[in-house]
Amino acid sequence: MAKILIVEDNALNIKLFCDLLAAHGHEPEAVTDSRNALDAARSFSPDLVITDIQLPHVSGLELIRMIRGDAQLAEVPIMAVTAYSARGDEERIRAAGAQAYVSKPISVARFAHTVDELLAGKHEEVLSGTEPSPRT
Ligand code: MN
Repeated sequence: MAKILIVEDNALNIKLFCDLLAAHGHEPEAVTDSRNALDAARSFSPDLVITDIQLPHVSGLELIRMIRGDAQLAEVPIMAVTAYSARGDEERIRAAGAQAYVSKPISVARFAHTVDELLAGKHEEVLSGTEPSPRT
């Protein structure tokens, strides 16, 4: 079981992500207002942060940079979830400090796989963007 902080302004996505993570035995906590996200992360001390990019007030990119710059949270893996599809956007997300990127609408299998990889500390594999290879 892992503690996973979700930062997302869309109620339906929050429900989807929380249900999915709870079904996998995790403990999700959701923040809808990104202005509260850093404080929530400090007190919840998550094993993984999942953040939307298109957020009012503090954007997902800003939030990722804030987490990376926070002494307590700097090492926490971050997964960005976004409707962005342009290549430059993905590179900006990764440059800001997210280890992984999943596009909306999410593939449930891809979402769950990426969460597992990040929690297992397999950042490199996720970073390279390679598809999961079949276990032989
Ligand atoms: Mn949004």
